Amino acid sequence: MDKETYSQAVSQLVKLAQGDTGGSRVAAQVLLSAYNGEAWQLNVVDLCALDKPNYQAALDVIRGRVELYIEPHTLIANGGRIFEELWHRWERYHVENRAKPLCSACSGSGRMWIDDSTEIECKSCGGKGY
Ligand SMILES: [Zn+2]
Repeated sequence: MDKETYSQAVSQLVKLAQGDTGGSRVAAQVLLSAYNGEAWQLNVVDLCALDKPNYQAALDVIRGRVELYIEPHTLIANGGRIFEELWHRWERYHVENRAKPLCSACSGSGRMWIDDSTEIECKSCGGKGY
């Protein structure tokens, strides 16, 4: 494992984690657990949701973190701020929150429709989804 491969994998997963797909949630878990393993954990089975290039990037991040002892946010520009944003964006999966049941009003989406064309933050959970 070399630093360049690790850096590229972090950049790739950050882009994915900033999106809004099933893979985004997995990328966020990989990055945030490599960043702070006390506060974040990775569901290993969730790795099945990644396509092959992103799965490889996830393995590269895990290997880089373990074998090089380098924290992932130090490898990208504005990494501290970017990881802080990911921290807030994916709060649902923080160890303190991930076991909480889904909000029954919005089924965990954090959003609700008030008419056919207007979507708002769920009033019951404040958009948190739990
Ligand atoms: Zn809700």
